[in-house]
Amino acid sequence: MTPLPAPTQLAGWRHIYSGKVRDLYTPENGADAHLLVVASNRVSAFDHVLEPPIPGKGALLTALSNWWFARIDLPNHLAANDPDAPAVPAEVVDRAMLSRKLEMYPIECVVRGALTGSGFVEYQRTGAVCGIELPTGLNDGDLLDEPIYTPAYKAPLGEHDENITFERSAELVGAEAATALRDASLQIFTAARDLAAARGVVLADTKFEFGRDPISGELVLADEVLTSDSSRYWDASVYHDTTLSHRDRLASFDKQIVRNWLAEHWDKTGEPPVLPEEIVAQTYDRYRELYVRLTGGEPPYTPVAV
Ligand code: ATP
Ligand code: MG
Repeated sequence: MTPLPAPTQLAGWRHIYSGKVRDLYTPENGADAHLLVVASNRVSAFDHVLEPPIPGKGALLTALSNWWFARIDLPNHLAANDPDAPAVPAEVVDRAMLSRKLEMYPIECVVRGALTGSGFVEYQRTGAVCGIELPTGLNDGDLLDEPIYTPAYKAPLGEHDENITFERSAELVGAEAATALRDASLQIFTAARDLAAARGVVLADTKFEFGRDPISGELVLADEVLTSDSSRYWDASVYHDTTLSHRDRLASFDKQIVRNWLAEHWDKTGEPPVLPEEIVAQTYDRYRELYVRLTGGEPPYTPVAV
């Protein structure tokens, strides 16, 4: 994997971790009730972080997460209104989430309303996804009658997440927590899918992460939610247009443009090529379009290079 750029130094905060896209900080004074999750403008594909970043992406996805959090009827990790919440540094305020630090469950809570991606690959091989048997004869991109919960074990850094059965998730986190994770995931997915559908957008699949509040023990929705980095969204009118090619119908509201460009310009060995300016601009537009479609408003921040 490409090495990550050095994270932004933030006064009063200690950098503790960087994923491919986000940087995490805790307060420098040692208080560990809070976590600052800063979404960078980095874009990753095929397990590589690409150059250059997409200006505005971090702010856009943070705004979209916040918009969804406000509409999900479950406790979430946002902590900006806590009385003891530390201030968020001004330079990252548009792309930072001040969170309650939780004990995270090592499970990626994936819900699929359509069969595509790794789920479709597994179905072709076994007729099932994560142990859930599906009817025969389904095609890539078909909508499922009922959404299915297909958890993955969140592998340690550098390893690939592994699709697991519900029973395996119960061995990992206990039956009670596994059931709560599944029920919450399906509940959020169903409500979000219906809301997106009313706006002409198909929510094909998504991934949630949950943690346990170390004090109250309650289940809390964490991480980013229902962003185009954690979810696959399709334009409903395009999806249902059978005159289009299969690939065009399933064009997702995310970095599909980047993936397609790389597939045509890179043999996936060595370092990926630098993205041309027009691919960067088109990718931002695609992220922005989803935000506008779902929320009915313009993104709160204009792109700046970070
Ligand atoms: P990648 O996404 O690059 O595959 P990653 O998931 O480890 O790797 P990020 O998603 O960038 O990296 O990092 C966010 C990390 O923060 C995740 O490990 C997530 O589980 C964790 N996290 C999110 N919200 C909280 C929270 N409220 N408390 C504790 N950890 C959290
Ligand atoms: Mg992640």
